[in-house]
Amino acid sequence: MKLKNANWLIKKKEGLYCIPGDFYIDPLYPVEKALITHAHTDHARPNNHFILGTKETIEIMKIRYAKSYCNNYQVVNYNSPLTINNIVITFIPAGHILGSSQILIEYNGYKFLISGDYKRVEDKTCKGYQNKKCDTFVTEATFGLPIFSHPSDKDEIKKLLESVNKNRQKPHLIGVYALGKCQRILSLLRDAGYDDTIYLHGALVKITDYYISQGIDIGKVKNTSDLNLSELKNQIILCPPSAIHDKWSRKFKNPIKGIVSGWMNIRQRIKQKNIQLPLIISDHADWNDILLTTKENNPDKVLVTHGREEALVFQLNKLGFEAKALNLLGYEDEYE
Ligand SMILES: [Zn+2]
Ligand SMILES: [Zn+2]
Repeated sequence: MKLKNANWLIKKKEGLYCIPGDFYIDPLYPVEKALITHAHTDHARPNNHFILGTKETIEIMKIRYAKSYCNNYQVVNYNSPLTINNIVITFIPAGHILGSSQILIEYNGYKFLISGDYKRVEDKTCKGYQNKKCDTFVTEATFGLPIFSHPSDKDEIKKLLESVNKNRQKPHLIGVYALGKCQRILSLLRDAGYDDTIYLHGALVKITDYYISQGIDIGKVKNTSDLNLSELKNQIILCPPSAIHDKWSRKFKNPIKGIVSGWMNIRQRIKQKNIQLPLIISDHADWNDILLTTKENNPDKVLVTHGREEALVFQLNKLGFEAKALNLLGYEDEYE
């Protein structure tokens, strides 16, 4: 018979904590031992003593945090279980960004699956999402409302290319987050047949270079840092979303401004950001994909975290799962 006791994984102020293993998952404050699902800064924070993560996660943390990325680390391969104090830990591809993982933690026959951030939609810049049976599923719910149904990423990219074709004398400034979104957009543009040089704001270069070094195919890119920006006309220029309205962006002549984000299906946000070209491309599961994932993983219990928890908890209970909000604070959805 399955041991029903699951009280060895608990919530502390630093985040989720495994008592027998004495480790945290994506802790918010520096700890002795941490398992890191992926390198976005709300999940991977600096100054932990010892971290476990995929090679890519650890290398990106090193790029971002330099010395303070950790004191010591262990690289974990996908789907290769390892044991700490009788606890079996397996990292499973999450399909979110390069190196991103879900973490399966088994102890005394009981399985917790911690999703981290995940998406099921194909993304050539990272390893594809895999599902996993478990007893308790800890799922993110960044887009955990029925109104969130992400459109096809290919259709959104088409909108961008149509605008580029229609507005031959105008540069397109497109806001994307530096880690994951930027490289995915580059890859999608190439798949759509766009093969001109794509320009990058200096803040996007380091991580993009890292993706290139890992063999991710994104075609020809150029750093805008040493260029005369007013000369860029019919080009696509990717930049951090915050640069869309800052001093830098004023150097372009008549630019068309866009932002790529799962939030771009909320009219109010588009207005707030004052942009002409909202592109709805998300690196998170939408409402239907969260429900589908939960059904496939078939847990007894679901713990819902960072996002719109209530509606999802309600729906999951209706579907027969024992669901609860985990109320972990500190995980922002800005990488969206
Ligand atoms: Zn993330
Ligand atoms: Zn997250």
